[in-house]
Amino acid sequence: MKDDLSLMGTVLRIERTSIHDGAGLRTVLFLKGCPLQCSWCSTPESQCRAPEKGYDAGRCMGCGRCVASCPAGALHLSSEVSKVSKVSVDQTKCSRCFLCVVKCPHRAWKQYGSIMTVEEVIKEISKDEIFFFHSGGGVTVSGGEALSQVDFTAAVLRACGRRGIPAALETSCYAPWGEMEKILPFLQNLYVDLKLMDRDLHQQWVGVDNSLILDNIRRIDQSSHPVEIMVRIPLIPGLNDSDDNLAATGAFCRSLKKLKGIEILPYHRLGKETYSHLGRDYAFKKLLPPSPAWILERAGFLAGQKPGVPVYVNGNEVA
Ligand code: SF4
Ligand code: SF4
Repeated sequence: MKDDLSLMGTVLRIERTSIHDGAGLRTVLFLKGCPLQCSWCSTPESQCRAPEKGYDAGRCMGCGRCVASCPAGALHLSSEVSKVSKVSVDQTKCSRCFLCVVKCPHRAWKQYGSIMTVEEVIKEISKDEIFFFHSGGGVTVSGGEALSQVDFTAAVLRACGRRGIPAALETSCYAPWGEMEKILPFLQNLYVDLKLMDRDLHQQWVGVDNSLILDNIRRIDQSSHPVEIMVRIPLIPGLNDSDDNLAATGAFCRSLKKLKGIEILPYHRLGKETYSHLGRDYAFKKLLPPSPAWILERAGFLAGQKPGVPVYVNGNEVA
């Protein structure tokens, strides 16, 4: 099939020289758009498919330049200058031109995401080919959920494959099987989140039930695609840390032939500020990050379930 280099997608950002998302040095392509609503999500700016803007009231000096430059008349200076917000926005009028981002001298506005072609993305990725070659790295496509832009993702991965760039995908596996099949031929590594094994709890905390996710992982494992699977567990205190959930996770992992390891991703609150910049509420604002001792104890419990593969925390194997 011909590369479709003119296909457009919504890119959140491209990060270089990552050492956490696959072998060697990785260039990570973060795409926008996700069909899940994980209550603890640390990248709320990745959930909406369209580019959007955030406002940091702490940086805003109330100078009014953004208000004057907005062609849609969507911005207004608050009559009362407060720490909470000096500028208000009428989202129904905003045309997402992002002039306010450009005009603000204090970087109080920030743009999350931009439209790029496959060709533009490949041009960026190709700048790092020398690092891929020397480190054994490659490209990792992440999200949001990359499968929510499946044709764009497939075109990027196909173009990478033609250049000999190894590819990995970070995904929830929440997509129809036909869409998974469009991607699998281009992948060497798959990183998949296993958030909760109980179907009802998954529905409650993630917004969808987990049947499709578990089915897809099983089908990938039984397929002829020689992809290596790594399971990732975002470990959230009081939500998916119970003995029952970790034992069920261990049993599921034990059944997978292509599984190479399990990574524990401890809960953190790095995305908290972004919720406020987007004008959204952070559901877990009272939940504190767990202690290293607690994380190790829970990881040790999972390893004790004999999942058949190593369990890692922060890159270190748990005994
Ligand atoms: S993105 Fe454009 S239309 Fe929307 S508030 Fe900013 S300047 Fe106005
Ligand atoms: S241009 Fe920046 S500093 Fe000035 S009012 Fe707008 S957001 Fe605030």
